[in-house]
Amino acid sequence: MSETPALTPARIAAVLERTPRSSFVGGRFLGGTAALDIIDPATGAPLTQVVDADAEAVGLSALDAAADAQDAWAATLPRERSEILRRAYELCHERADDLAALMTLEMGKPLAEAYGEVTYGAEFLRWFSEETVRQPGRFRHAPSAHEGVLTVARPVGPTLLITPWNFPLSMGTRKIGPALAAGCTVVLKPAQATPLTSLAFMAILAEAGVPDGVVNCVVTSEAKEFSAALMADPRLRKVSFTGSTPVGRTLLAQASEHVLRTSMELGGNAPFLVLPSADIETAVDAAMLAKFRNNGEACTAANRFYLHYSIAEEFTARFVERTSQLVLGPGADPATTLGPLLDEAGVAKVQELQADAVERGARVFTGGGRGTGDGFFYEATVLADVPLSARVHREEIFGPLAPLTVLDDIEEMIRAANDSEFGLMAYVMAEDLGEITQVTGRLESGMIAVNRGVASDPSAPFGGVKESGLGREGSHEGIAEYLETTYVRLPL
Ligand code: ADP
Repeated sequence: MSETPALTPARIAAVLERTPRSSFVGGRFLGGTAALDIIDPATGAPLTQVVDADAEAVGLSALDAAADAQDAWAATLPRERSEILRRAYELCHERADDLAALMTLEMGKPLAEAYGEVTYGAEFLRWFSEETVRQPGRFRHAPSAHEGVLTVARPVGPTLLITPWNFPLSMGTRKIGPALAAGCTVVLKPAQATPLTSLAFMAILAEAGVPDGVVNCVVTSEAKEFSAALMADPRLRKVSFTGSTPVGRTLLAQASEHVLRTSMELGGNAPFLVLPSADIETAVDAAMLAKFRNNGEACTAANRFYLHYSIAEEFTARFVERTSQLVLGPGADPATTLGPLLDEAGVAKVQELQADAVERGARVFTGGGRGTGDGFFYEATVLADVPLSARVHREEIFGPLAPLTVLDDIEEMIRAANDSEFGLMAYVMAEDLGEITQVTGRLESGMIAVNRGVASDPSAPFGGVKESGLGREGSHEGIAEYLETTYVRLPL
């Protein structure tokens, strides 16, 4: 990346001016009166307004467009779909300044991290552009007859994609990339708080050559009515959702009506285990990323830290020191390393979980309060001596609060880690291979990062076990979520 332009008021105004602000259906932005506020988390004030689409009317017209485009899109050559995705990948990089600015403005993350998300988000387009031309299929001679078993992969069909606000670009590309690669058309519903990045991305997809109707995006404040209307329509064949477990449960129940295929990326409660053989500097580096990246607002964020007693003191001292060096401020300020939370509810949740832990005996080692200003700022906080009974061990924090608990042996650490209905991500810090395999083999988690604070990678299968979800995104598994298998019996 070349130079990063500063987010001056003039540049903010220019970026907002050229960003579409209404739903994208059948290849065009619908227009209308923009009356739905998009709030800047760094100030608490409206940044701009977007058009709030009628959930049912616009939702169903988007499904009309997707259903009408489905057959022709499925019939395009894989090479053609691949080239379009590749072009979209390149355009994301060409437009990185705008995409990063929009993410920082509507969601709050530090600008440097927003650029990181452009790279990460675009990478799904490149990965799936490459997967497009390697679609699965096989032929086998039937063992008991002179007949053939031909297996063909086909696109599932029109798909509803529902994304959250914490990663405004990459949650979309992680779904749109494989859907388009497989030959599915889609209707995307971004989170109400962060539609600007998705709308800018729609313009990119159109420019990349995605035919009208193949990708549609509906911005609406009526999430429930919108998804209910689409899922009641038999033309829809799949829903892919990233968000909270309660909403995921509702969607799974609704999906049963027409037996829709589902992919669910739901809540997390990642344990961060520091074992006796851990290298403390490596573990602290990983902890800083696992906890404070994206303002702590990630389903993969470390939610609870279990420290082996033998290293607890040293780890705690270094972690507290590093945490207290984070710079809380607006994401647009280049000095900021920790941005504001999305909204007041996010701040209230962190305060509530902290108060509960303190009431049960935890001590605040650093941070622990709101930041200054009208934005939704919360200090980077470390709590020590957090008892296992604290709510923070069971509930997703989604904020910069790190609860530390010292345990006596590795067995106890594994038991504590698995004592959750979630199983998305786990972090294991250790140098000894025996310790690593002893623990990784038994953690109930879809993903495990060893001596790393981030594991997300478009070439790797992202997803959870237990109530953290169903299915995987990224890797070969990612495209399989959008394909059906047809078996054809052939005489030989
Ligand atoms: P988050 O904590 O990330 O906001 P949610 O699960 O509330 O998690 O939201 C994730 C996405 O799901 C957003 O796009 C939101 O608008 C949408 N959503 C929320 N409630 C519903 C619902 N009842 N039906 C369908 N979508 C919903």
